[in-house]
Amino acid sequence: MTLAPTPINSLIEQKQQELRDLVQYPEEKLTSIIRGVGFKCDLCSRCCTEEFNDHVFLLDADTATIKQIDAFALTPAPYFEFCDQHGRFYVSGYALKSKPDGSCYFLEGGRCRIYSRRLSICRVYPYMLHREADESGNVDWRQVSGLDEHGCYHTEIGDVEAREIAKETKNYEKAFLEQEINFLKAINTHFTKNGLRHIQKVYDRQMRLYQKGGSIEVCVYYSGTFEKNVLPAE
Ligand code: SF4
Repeated sequence: MTLAPTPINSLIEQKQQELRDLVQYPEEKLTSIIRGVGFKCDLCSRCCTEEFNDHVFLLDADTATIKQIDAFALTPAPYFEFCDQHGRFYVSGYALKSKPDGSCYFLEGGRCRIYSRRLSICRVYPYMLHREADESGNVDWRQVSGLDEHGCYHTEIGDVEAREIAKETKNYEKAFLEQEINFLKAINTHFTKNGLRHIQKVYDRQMRLYQKGGSIEVCVYYSGTFEKNVLPAE
């Protein structure tokens, strides 16, 4: 089926192209980069803070895990994608709440309280595989986050371990893009069916209201539906 050229459909096509590019990225190349960088965690726990990583985005499977452990830890991921004419925001998933000091809700005494059930992004970090602009604006594939800013480097990583990391990193990025594509498709259907449209002016007005302490409604995409959240939490 050919999609009509609406802005949301263009975004879907763009994400689908990103997904095709990702699938074609050679796993061998990523494996070799992982071995070359030789990253080893030194348990500094900086990656579990807002100062280092803006937020912990959750794939649907991660949200399901957190709902079992402690649903209070969930919050709509920041940077809502859309806002309809009634002032309702829409975002592609949940994130973990942070504590007032900016550390992750689950970080305690420098250690993760849910390490044995840690989330997809926490498992693959600091590895990544997506195109991003560097400080000079050059867009290219990025494979390691926060390079030389934390942890140890040039340690020995065996071939089998590096291959596993490469595979898991690619799978994570694939699941992330698929969630984004499914979200955009769900938005397209929901907006069309209910006569809704994204209005940037309303988005900006509602954000100003929220920043001044007002309350907003955020529909979070989870498991094929939109869950209503009210911020600040009621
Ligand atoms: S869930 Fe655990 S590993 Fe992930 S950011 Fe929070 S404290 Fe760190």
